Amino acid sequence: MTHIDTTCVQGGYHPKNGEPRQVPIIQSTTFRYDSSAAMAKLFDLEESGYFYSRLQNPTTDNVAAKIAAMEGGTAAMLTGSGQAATFMSIFNICPSGGHVICLAEIYGGTYNLLSVTMKQMGIETTFVRNNCPDEELAKAFRSNTRAVFGETISNPTSAVLDIERFARMAHTHGVPLIVDNTFATPVNCRPFEWGADIVTHSTTKYMDGHGSAVGGAIVDSGKFDWNAHADKYPGLTRPDESYHGLVYTERFGLAGAYITKATAHLMRDLGCVQSPFSAFILSQGLESLHVRMKRHCENGEAVAAYLDAHSKISFVKYCSLPGNEYYELAQKYLPGGSCGVVSFGIAGGREKAEQFMNKLTICNIATHVSDAHTCILHPASSTHRQLSEEQLRAVGVAPEFVRLSVGIEQVEDIIADLDQALAQI
Ligand SMILES: *Cc1c(COP(=O)(O)O)cnc(C)c1O
Repeated sequence: MTHIDTTCVQGGYHPKNGEPRQVPIIQSTTFRYDSSAAMAKLFDLEESGYFYSRLQNPTTDNVAAKIAAMEGGTAAMLTGSGQAATFMSIFNICPSGGHVICLAEIYGGTYNLLSVTMKQMGIETTFVRNNCPDEELAKAFRSNTRAVFGETISNPTSAVLDIERFARMAHTHGVPLIVDNTFATPVNCRPFEWGADIVTHSTTKYMDGHGSAVGGAIVDSGKFDWNAHADKYPGLTRPDESYHGLVYTERFGLAGAYITKATAHLMRDLGCVQSPFSAFILSQGLESLHVRMKRHCENGEAVAAYLDAHSKISFVKYCSLPGNEYYELAQKYLPGGSCGVVSFGIAGGREKAEQFMNKLTICNIATHVSDAHTCILHPASSTHRQLSEEQLRAVGVAPEFVRLSVGIEQVEDIIADLDQALAQI
């Protein structure tokens, strides 16, 4: 395999003689055929091809192929958002009546999806701590458990997933490990190399990298043996009545069954597609991902070290900072750097944090993270403002908690901005 830096630029799309070098935007909902018979084969999944962009589109397929190559997977699909990717990655193998084990330090949107919405759909979730002992983790598995879900680096608390350990535990219980690799990106960590089975992304973040297009992706390693646990995964190993009794693992093998089902079944019925134009923007971002991640990490490390040494900062959460509780795991799984998201506390609490935010000029107050611009958020006065002080502490977001997403500007300017704002409070 070529180096990840080369795959970022050239992976996935390989133009033939005289074809456009850049991924073409095929902004068309439909595709024309000479006969009904030719089209019928596509509807029966007997031949692959395009007929309607809710199922597949050449632009989104090319970009999905690039992401599959970057992660080292066998197949991938794009979705309309990271939320859609998370939902479909689980629901594809865990319908009503199933159970999921999820890491407790997780993106808030994933927590709500699992604990509220998927619960309403008859899917239960047990949340486990990253550092829970093996015995406690083993107890969380039930006969109806269908997947374990975690984030390589958690948003926003910077907890690092011990991928090897959780993959081993999942496999011992006959279920796959799904890893949300949004913050690390395949440039800094490829979870399949450590035993993960499926990877998801919010491509909205570093992959796009410029805050331009909402999107998601699901990648399959092709390694999980659904047939060895056929009773648990009838959706993949038993006939699909909505496709004349086709069996996904038989027709598409382990390399293609999971993503083909997610496309032919879930995307057909749920329709949360990424548009060809958004996929094109994502493709542009992917071509410079390896260059940008390096800068995000260098800047993130410098800012974390600056904050850690400042007397008005009560704590810093950044897994690449020596002394952090996840530093050793970060060295193992993210030796080349983690990401640019640094969370910290302002000594003096909510009021001081709000004053600090108001003095910033270069750091943009925005809910977004992980793009070229440095963005900052005070959850207690924005995303989490409905919560009481007690509730805030319970979800791990203290009133003084600030989430900083360090961009790719000159780091001296970012630190100078933080410094002048801290001097004024
Ligand atoms: C943002 C985010 C999501 C959700 O992605 P959207 O594209 O906003 O739907 C999922 N996981 C992580 C880690 C995220 O940061």
